[in-house]
Amino acid sequence: MQLLEKAPAKINLSLDVLYKRPDNYHEIEMVMTTIDLADRIGLTELPSDKIIIDSENQFVPNDERNLAYRAAKLVIDTYNVKKGINIFIEKNIPVAAGLAGGSSDAAAVIRGLNRLWQLGMSVKEMAELGAKIGSDVSFCVYNTTALAKGRGELIEELPAPPSCWVVLAKPAIGVSTQTIYQNFSPDGVEHPDTQGMIRALEAEDFDAMCGKVGNVLESVTLPMYPEVRQIKQQMELAGADAVLMSGSGPTVFSLAHQESRAYRIYNSLRGFCDEVYVVRMLGYHQLLD
Ligand code: ATP
Repeated sequence: MQLLEKAPAKINLSLDVLYKRPDNYHEIEMVMTTIDLADRIGLTELPSDKIIIDSENQFVPNDERNLAYRAAKLVIDTYNVKKGINIFIEKNIPVAAGLAGGSSDAAAVIRGLNRLWQLGMSVKEMAELGAKIGSDVSFCVYNTTALAKGRGELIEELPAPPSCWVVLAKPAIGVSTQTIYQNFSPDGVEHPDTQGMIRALEAEDFDAMCGKVGNVLESVTLPMYPEVRQIKQQMELAGADAVLMSGSGPTVFSLAHQESRAYRIYNSLRGFCDEVYVVRMLGYHQLLD
């Protein structure tokens, strides 16, 4: 029997770095939401204690470096499970793109194994377990819209954004999250209005939400990778309601209230960027349908 789990990507509506902590992590504040671009994870129980990663994507490691592998190992060790698992990954989310693809795969494995082996973990318990693998895994366990604090693992759920179109463009470069954080300097950086973003979501106000998008990591990634800035400018010219880099990049997204506007942006990116997607921003319950 194979159990299937959807592992959707996330985008940052806002990302702020507050300060560097004594443990060398950055204290951050992010508003994140889930979009309808997803990997598909198939879980098949094995009688032996093996963990097998079955993925045809050349950029995804098929050993213990894979976050999905680490999630399975963590669940097996924590609950002393005497079985193994075959993890099939249909990779649809671009890799090293700022869309938390690996973290979402790990979260899907935790959710899936919780169901498969009837471990009885609550969502909060799964998120706490996920935080041991990576800071974004907790958010991905929830698959919702949330404020993430701490190093990203402290999750406070927020109302879903007003439904709209999201155009994603990923230039043909991979960006290391670690390098971007290492090069971040708070000097002279304009911080996003996180509370303003939360108020916009609470008011279900699309225009206010668009006015509050902001990501301090653009101050590092944009000067390093001019193609990211170029895509942002192109999207703005095409009439996007809001344009922002997601996470540490390099993916840039734009929000559009109208479908026709979203496709105008999509078409304007031809020649600029090979990987372009038009998706919907969705709430948790819609994703489960
Ligand atoms: P984040 O936004 O959380 O920093 P990202 O979207 O920038 O993540 P990922 O797609 O998660 O980046 O990939 C980052 C690195 O993790 C890649 O270099 C890849 O080799 C490794 N990796 C490990 N497991 C996975 C996985 N299941 N899917 C994709 N990449 C993975």
